[in-house]
Amino acid sequence: MIHLNEVRATVKQGVELVAVSKFHPAALIKEAYDQGQRIFGESRVQELQAKHEALPADIQWHFIGHLQPNKVKYIASYISLIHAVDSYKLLAEINKQAAKHDRVIPCLLELHIAQEESKYGFTPEACTALLEDGAWRALKNVQIAGLMCVASNTPDMVQVRSEFHQARVYFDELKQRFFADDPHFCERSWGMSHDYDVAMDEGATLVRVGTAIFGEREY
Ligand SMILES: *Cc1c(COP(=O)(O)O)cnc(C)c1O
Repeated sequence: MIHLNEVRATVKQGVELVAVSKFHPAALIKEAYDQGQRIFGESRVQELQAKHEALPADIQWHFIGHLQPNKVKYIASYISLIHAVDSYKLLAEINKQAAKHDRVIPCLLELHIAQEESKYGFTPEACTALLEDGAWRALKNVQIAGLMCVASNTPDMVQVRSEFHQARVYFDELKQRFFADDPHFCERSWGMSHDYDVAMDEGATLVRVGTAIFGEREY
């Protein structure tokens, strides 16, 4: 029993729903697929590989978790969007592997704006520095398609809103400075089950929703 349609009913026009299926079995994904869902998010390479092989070929798989550069090669032939690029090294590796398949892989830069300590994601300063450096412009097989962020894990929606808002303002700044002529830089991936309504208010174009669709994960 999944709650895809209930969630869909709450997703605003123009916002894309990524059904986060990590830790859930292929049968549940198939159920969502049969209800018309085509975009699914996974966060572990091995698990994604198995599901990609078992499930229909027209599914658009998004990688939403932390990705180690040495694992890019396993998913480069088919991945539709990589949400959480957090280093130049990873971006360069995605470019290299995409070239082998004659593809251009869309990627989002992960922004770290939450209050919690995290090993992952660029601070705004680091993200700006990467773009100023300019080396990324030579990477012809990746397309920087926007930003992704995870808000603080708190019930304080005022805090969450202010973080998404900050991300939105920062997105606009980068758009103007580095991507004014590039229509591909247009995606803002923010919002999960407990905060995607706030994220949509603050300009999300992609929401990553797992629990609200599939129920609690069993790790
Ligand atoms: C697991 C995960 C989600 C989905 O979280 P839910 O609370 O189950 O909706 C969204 N984004 C990322 C990065 C995740 O790892």
